Amino acid sequence: MKLSDAVSAQAPLVRRLLDGVATIGADPPGITRDAYGRGENEAQALIAEAGRALGMTPSIDAGANLSLRWDSGRDAPPVLIGSHLDSVVQGGNFDGAAGVIAGIGAVAALQAAGLAPKRDIEVLALRCEEAVWFGLGLIGSRSLLARLPAGALELPHARSGLTLAQSIDRCGGHSARLRENTPLRDPRSLGAYLEVHIEQAPQLVEANAPVAVCLANPGNVRHPFIRITGEDAHTGLPHRFRRDAALAGADLSLALERLWLEEEAEGRPMAVTIGRFHTTAARHSLTAVSGGFELSLDLRAYDAAHLAALEKRLDEIAARVAARRNVEIVLGERSAASPGPMDPAIVKGFSAAARRCGIEAPRLNSPGSHDANNFAAAGVPTGMLLVRNRNGSHNPHEAMDTPDLMAAIGVLAEFLTA
Ligand SMILES: [Zn+2]
Repeated sequence: MKLSDAVSAQAPLVRRLLDGVATIGADPPGITRDAYGRGENEAQALIAEAGRALGMTPSIDAGANLSLRWDSGRDAPPVLIGSHLDSVVQGGNFDGAAGVIAGIGAVAALQAAGLAPKRDIEVLALRCEEAVWFGLGLIGSRSLLARLPAGALELPHARSGLTLAQSIDRCGGHSARLRENTPLRDPRSLGAYLEVHIEQAPQLVEANAPVAVCLANPGNVRHPFIRITGEDAHTGLPHRFRRDAALAGADLSLALERLWLEEEAEGRPMAVTIGRFHTTAARHSLTAVSGGFELSLDLRAYDAAHLAALEKRLDEIAARVAARRNVEIVLGERSAASPGPMDPAIVKGFSAAARRCGIEAPRLNSPGSHDANNFAAAGVPTGMLLVRNRNGSHNPHEAMDTPDLMAAIGVLAEFLTA
């Protein structure tokens, strides 16, 4: 069978798996597949069964990630195709799961076309990519590549309250092995890491293209609990005496937005998100100057040196606002993820494969960070395909059309034959 026909023939399998993970995660009006909980575990079991049906060998690593290996009988470094099965609370069905299912679909298509793998192909279902469960994201790929930050194994799960170590052990992992802090797989022994993921912005809708070849994923620096302390005061207090934490919060946020727009104007893409932004609820009122304010900050950029420079700017801006407003600003807890530049040879290879499939695939920066970041940072040649998706992600209205995913599977399968 021609490869393109073999890909089309996998549409029922792909639909069945997409519907399967949707049923598992059903939490109207959205989808919840809790990491290391029932949702992720059952989705992993469904994918394992689909892999077994294709003759792939399942295994669980010390981080409780699932690998399904299609054995080539050859000694070359394997190609990994991965993504995640967990979701945010009441998110959509496709963020993560579509990528794992794309891996299964590509293997099924190659088999149906009668093509033998040139090297082992492994489909990975990585654990807990979403940061909502432990306040830290990309946990499966961090576990695999020894990139968990200190103390991560002691973080509590948002729902079960179990620590990350306990959660991993309950799901068939081996947290004691992760404490050795050496990679579970030597990055030099891995041929490539490929990931298909829905786009989390409407750039492909705008471009009217089903698939894009990703150029880079952003890294981020996050401060979940920035605290500003001024002084509660009467509303009649003249401006020069005020230590207004609320206006300092606004000042800080707007200064960061100005930095963002300046950087972009200079051709350095980045983003600033103030997700939480509030006065101290126990004390705020219509008739008081707020002495307490809290906000969260996610700062992202596509290049490690740029991100480091932005962090320095953040410190300067916070110091300037604190001095101007006579408040104290504590950035507090910090987490970070490395940017994930894609491998130039894979970018070219994906573009060529898309052309052979008759698809005009633009090249785009990904708005989101993904497990691919950790593989890229560990030196594994990494590539991503982004799939058109309306209404963003991390919400119940996420919308990917199956034919668009089939187009991505076609490009992936075509790439794997090259
Ligand atoms: Zn995702």
